[in-house]
Amino acid sequence: MSENICENLKRINDEISLALTKSKYNQNVKLCAVSKFHPYTDVLNAIESNQFLFGENRVQEASEKFNVVRDSIQGKNINIELHIIGQLQSNKVKKACEICDCIESVDRTSLVEEIEKQCTKLNKTMKVFLEIHTGEDSKSGFTDLEEVYALCSSFAENKYPHITVCGLMTMAPFTDDEKLIRKSFSTLRELKSELNTKYPSLPITELSMGMSGDYKIAIEEGATIVRIGTAIFGERK
Ligand SMILES: *Cc1c(COP(=O)(O)O)cnc(C)c1O
Repeated sequence: MSENICENLKRINDEISLALTKSKYNQNVKLCAVSKFHPYTDVLNAIESNQFLFGENRVQEASEKFNVVRDSIQGKNINIELHIIGQLQSNKVKKACEICDCIESVDRTSLVEEIEKQCTKLNKTMKVFLEIHTGEDSKSGFTDLEEVYALCSSFAENKYPHITVCGLMTMAPFTDDEKLIRKSFSTLRELKSELNTKYPSLPITELSMGMSGDYKIAIEEGATIVRIGTAIFGERK
């Protein structure tokens, strides 16, 4: 018997509610089910359990899987949302823009330029999160805050009319040290409020942080989206 996705989702949603009672940030939390490496049938099972937000790392895999998923739910009046959460090469941006609703892993200005270019052609507006490097041993995300400020200024001047910057994303360091994990999440939360003050016209509302091992801490630190794979779908092969 494979993982019981329905039960796992129920348990995690309960734990999210419980963690929320311990948070002083009064936020709502959305669960992003990370289905990377898992088959489309697992996604369909999750949809059966009323899970509609999904995250994928790789554009090619996401494209193939979600084409089948979308075909399977066609005509059923079900709306799913797909977020790209993995490092994105510029030559994959076109396809990413075609298939997803949000790119959470925007980690450089050149990527923003490419997303704008592709979305202009598609006549589509893309939601993006800026991925911020907050933990010592994680590799991804902006490390230079000056670049983040300059980019936000450009957004505020409407330099990228086909992009809406709606949040920040981070990955905590892989460690058992809860203090370091918490620090990583609080750093992201503090940066968000700083950006909200500096650029009040930008709709930066989401904090995407927390995975299977650390989402309860993330929620206590103000997460509005947690990205959970293993705890829902089981170990990846
Ligand atoms: C794989 C992945 C997740 C989910 O990780 P789990 O530990 O399986 O919950 C979350 N965020 C990103 C960016 C990922 O690559």
